[in-house]
Amino acid sequence: MSLPFNIAIDGHSSCGKSTIAKAVASKYGMRYIDTGAMYRAVTLYCMRNNIINDKKVDLSVLISKLDEITINFVFNAETKGSETILNGENVEQIIRGFEVSDNVSIVAQIQQVREKLIASQQEIGREGNVVMDGRDIGTKVFPDAKLKLFVTASSEIRAQRRYDELKKKGEKVTFEEVLGNLTQRDDHDTNRKINPLVQAKDAILIDNSDLTIQKQNALIDELITTKLSE
Ligand code: C5P
Repeated sequence: MSLPFNIAIDGHSSCGKSTIAKAVASKYGMRYIDTGAMYRAVTLYCMRNNIINDKKVDLSVLISKLDEITINFVFNAETKGSETILNGENVEQIIRGFEVSDNVSIVAQIQQVREKLIASQQEIGREGNVVMDGRDIGTKVFPDAKLKLFVTASSEIRAQRRYDELKKKGEKVTFEEVLGNLTQRDDHDTNRKINPLVQAKDAILIDNSDLTIQKQNALIDELITTKLSE
C-alpha cells in the first residue's frame, strides 16, 4: 500500500519524529526523508572545510561552496534504514555525533542553506508518498500536506532518550551537556528569523512524554485512516 499524499512531521529536537516517520514509511511503503540529516551534512561539510569556527560561519565562503555540496540518501538493506551520503561519502554515523549537533542550528539559520535544501526536499516530494520530518515541513516545505503532525515531549524526557542513545554509541557526554545542547537547539530553532520551528495551524499536536511507541503508532494509524477516508 502506498499513500497518495505526503506526511509532514515537525517538532522539537529528539522528540521521536524519526521513529514515527520510519514506522509510517515502513507500514505504508512511503519514502522517508530525514531533513535534519541534510542540515547535519552541510554542517559537517562546514566543519571539515574550516567554514565554521567557534560557532561562527564564514558566510561568503559557504555561499561560494554551496553548489559543491551534494546530499543523497541510500537504503541500507541490513539495518532497513536510510543513510546520508555527502559528496559520495557515507556520513550517517558522524553526523549524529555531539560535535555536529552542537553546530547544526547555527548553519540551519542561514537563508541560502535553507533555500538549497528546501528546493531539493520539495523536488523529492513532488510525486507524493513521502514522509518527511524536520522543523519547517508543515509550514514551508509541504504547506499543503494532507497530514501534519507536530511532535513534542518534555525537555528532560527528550534529553534522557538522546543521552541513552549517545551512551549506547560510546560517546563521552554527560546528561547535562545533552540537555544543554537540546535546550539551545530548541531555542535557536524556535527563535530564528527564517523558517522558525512553529506548529502549523492545521498540524495535530502529539506530546509523547507519557506515550508508549505502540500507543503512538496506533494513534497515527488512526489519523492516516481518517485522512484516507476523507
Ligand atoms: O532533526 P535533527 O535534530 O537531526 O535536526 C538537526 C538540526 O537541523 C535542528 O536542530 C535544526 O537546527 C535543523 N533543522 C532545520 N530544519 C529542518 C530540519 C532540521 O532547521 N527541516
